[in-house]
Amino acid sequence: MSWVVELARPEIRALRPYEHAAWEPQLTRMHANELPFRVDGDGSLAGLNRYPEPQPPPLVNGLAALYGVPRERLLVGRGSDEAIDLLCRVFCRAGQDAVIVCPPTFGMYGVAARIQGAEVVTVPLDAARGFALDVEAVLAAVDGRTRLVFACSPNNPTANLLDRGALLDLARRLEPRALLVVDEAYIEFSRGESLAGEIARQPNIAVLRTLSKSHGLAGARCGSLIAAPEVIALARKVIPPYAITELTVEAVTPLLAPAGIAAMRERIAVLLTERARLASALAANPLIDRVWPSDANFLLVDTGAADDVLARVRRAGLIIRDVRQPLLPKSLRISVGTPEQNDRLLEALR
Ligand SMILES: *Cc1c(COP(=O)(O)O)cnc(C)c1O
Repeated sequence: MSWVVELARPEIRALRPYEHAAWEPQLTRMHANELPFRVDGDGSLAGLNRYPEPQPPPLVNGLAALYGVPRERLLVGRGSDEAIDLLCRVFCRAGQDAVIVCPPTFGMYGVAARIQGAEVVTVPLDAARGFALDVEAVLAAVDGRTRLVFACSPNNPTANLLDRGALLDLARRLEPRALLVVDEAYIEFSRGESLAGEIARQPNIAVLRTLSKSHGLAGARCGSLIAAPEVIALARKVIPPYAITELTVEAVTPLLAPAGIAAMRERIAVLLTERARLASALAANPLIDRVWPSDANFLLVDTGAADDVLARVRRAGLIIRDVRQPLLPKSLRISVGTPEQNDRLLEALR
């Protein structure tokens, strides 16, 4: 039993999970109060009148192979958003425990923690070092209430990859006090290597992966929590048994075969070419003061004319994200589009 389990809420460790209807596909199902009839227009393989298999093995196996981890270390959920929520619920006692987030970063960490009643402690990224993780400041903020530390690499919205050595150093020094959650939603667009392979040695690392961005499957809601088997077992107690719909299982599983992965890599190559083209064109544009380096499928730009830029883009029928806040006073975030969409954006700013 890993020491990481000691960090979890005692009531979740003790919880007896819901017992869903047994999965015995060789038998005719008269045990789950489903209707025996398929509805007209139901083109699914299994039938939408039936509950899906919890943690469907073909999907879990496909994702585990894709991410290069054993299946006991992976839980599939409705996007990484669900994994963030599960971690907060497994590890944080309402009114007692805390999480650390490193802004400017993805807003869901703080929201999920607050919904669970956990305190949110902020340790800003170091803007002077290109929004690097401030390991010493994070460690200085850890106290007896800290359960989770969220780090996003590449980070949204600043687009930079966090230093792998710094993340590993942080995980080691958080032992045995807290879990380091590394959100790798954009890692496929980067030069970086996933930390998932380190979990066997460092069980207080949890990695979040998603099909939403690089695989072009945001609508399928399919994200993975990769963690020590004991952490996966706890999260599995909390996730609703039928979280993943049969429609998602049947649509996504075939795409994880080699042909689907090869096609995904080709799309990423096109996107990276466009990212470089868009970045240099924006850097040359007088409305734009700065284009931050990107390891993701978006660009963070600083502009003293943010309102004008937003209005011009909107007149061209496009929408980009206003991410201005005290830590990013002049910043907008632009998702890299198709070559035609990027041309329209550049034309609107000419
Ligand atoms: C988009 C995004 C996600 C993806 O969330 P899903 O629920 O998997 O769609 C996760 N983390 C970050 C930082 C993101 O920007």
